[in-house]
Amino acid sequence: MLRTMLTAGLCFSTSIFLAAAVTADDISARARKLHFSSIVVDTHDDTTQRLLDGNFDLTARNADGSIDIPRMRDGNLSAIFFSIWIPSKVTGPEAVKRALEQIDAVREQVSKHPKDLVLTATAAEVREARKQGKLAALMGVEGGHMINSDLAILRSYAALGVRYMTLTHSGNDEWADSSTDKPVHNGLTDFGKEV
Ligand SMILES: [Zn+2]
Repeated sequence: MLRTMLTAGLCFSTSIFLAAAVTADDISARARKLHFSSIVVDTHDDTTQRLLDGNFDLTARNADGSIDIPRMRDGNLSAIFFSIWIPSKVTGPEAVKRALEQIDAVREQVSKHPKDLVLTATAAEVREARKQGKLAALMGVEGGHMINSDLAILRSYAALGVRYMTLTHSGNDEWADSSTDKPVHNGLTDFGKEV
């Protein structure tokens, strides 16, 4: 106990010393150096729905929204997971259709802007994209309600480039409880465990 307290005390006094010795400008310069020499990955970007709007141009600098190519480059973003998302109340074949529309929209952007974007599936491909000066595009499905309780749909998403899927969004789905909904399945159903 004494040793723990001594260690805690030492850490506390060390952090005070560091706080006094390092100015905000130093931290900013160091953080900047670290950030701009790193592979920076945004694992969840909700811009995908804007891609379905024919008026949104990913290559133009926008005053609103989360991302566009000029600001991704300014911020030294190396890779981005475009989020495939629809409200959790939408389920069944309609949910699959709408998820596929978003996956297609991401793939279309990659086809349209080959100098800026490349669809990637692995860490090695992300590194290669960075070497070539391109932004690595990836996809994540935000909620298991988009597979219509069918593993073949999940495999198809993966084949189209989706690299992760969260179990749920804010509501329960057919096979998993969400932390922000009332429990119905007591966690995962048997199919949920299979997923
Ligand atoms: Zn999201």
